[in-house]
Amino acid sequence: MLVVMQPNASSADIDRVCEEITRQGFKPLPLPGEVRTAIGLLGDDAKVDWSYIEGLPGVSSVLIVQKPFRQASREWKPETTIVEIAPGVRFGGTDVPVVAGPCSVESEQQILAAARQVKAAGGSALRGGAFKPRSSPYAFQGLGKQGLELLALARAETGLAIVTEAMDERGADMVAEYADCIQIGARNMQNYSLLRHVGTLRKPVLLKRGMAATINDLLLSAEYILAEGNPNVILCERGVRTFDSATRNLFDLTAVPVVQKLSHLPIVADPSHGTGLRDKVTPMARAAVAAGADGILVEMHPTPDRALSDGAQSLYPDQFGELVKQLRTIAAAIGRSVTEMA
Ligand code: PEP
Ligand code: MN
Repeated sequence: MLVVMQPNASSADIDRVCEEITRQGFKPLPLPGEVRTAIGLLGDDAKVDWSYIEGLPGVSSVLIVQKPFRQASREWKPETTIVEIAPGVRFGGTDVPVVAGPCSVESEQQILAAARQVKAAGGSALRGGAFKPRSSPYAFQGLGKQGLELLALARAETGLAIVTEAMDERGADMVAEYADCIQIGARNMQNYSLLRHVGTLRKPVLLKRGMAATINDLLLSAEYILAEGNPNVILCERGVRTFDSATRNLFDLTAVPVVQKLSHLPIVADPSHGTGLRDKVTPMARAAVAAGADGILVEMHPTPDRALSDGAQSLYPDQFGELVKQLRTIAAAIGRSVTEMA
């Protein structure tokens, strides 16, 4: 249940509604907005008949939120959430940050070169995995803590924000120490204990769609994080499995407007994992910005042909530079702008 107050409701009116929610055994959650306050609650209230709330002073309407995800829904919070992962790097506003970098952190030289190239081209955050969820246990698994230290070094040199993946609770604590945003990968989208854990941390979370997950599943996974008290969740479309092997995944761009209708959380697009092929990345990144994505996540490697993971889908640095230029033009055409760092 969500109570929408009238614009002129007094604080006594708001308190009264909160008291009623408390009396029914739930925790009220007032959400002050620009024009009016809405009041949600925590807990399963499906059995309560809330219709009488509509008759209380200052109440405009009572919405029964029937979607399985509540705090992630637009009914719960009508304004889009802006998640700021580092000063000036905001997802969900008019700015469109570009997050780029290699699939994996491989060495100091590689990640510093990548960071300089991302910065020079106009990216605002550096991505790169220190903990890699590889399909094969024999494939390169990432540098672990050393990789996080190298990312921190790259941030110190370039000022780029850092986005990197955590695969388990212990790793998430480590990532939270070093990075600006914790990535939860497609393979862990339904690792509910990990989701709950990152919900308790005070770091933004970039939650990628699972490869066989519906949008409803994605929003329910986000709900786990929100329910633990972490409001800073960025969703990410990265393609889903399908019958067609022409591309690595089927990049579901429709997810962008679908999620934006259902949820207040920002959604970014990852055309690198979404397509798996370098020459498809640029067109689909352009399309994602045109579709209204709140950010772009793209793999770029100083020497993709020598990459330890995902080389075939990693852009060459000059291709990335060209892409950012094009994204600026496309963003401007829809009244947005690619985030520019000082
Ligand atoms: C990645 O971002 O490198 C990654 C492993 O992505 P995903 O979880 O979407 O496969
Ligand atoms: Mn990758």
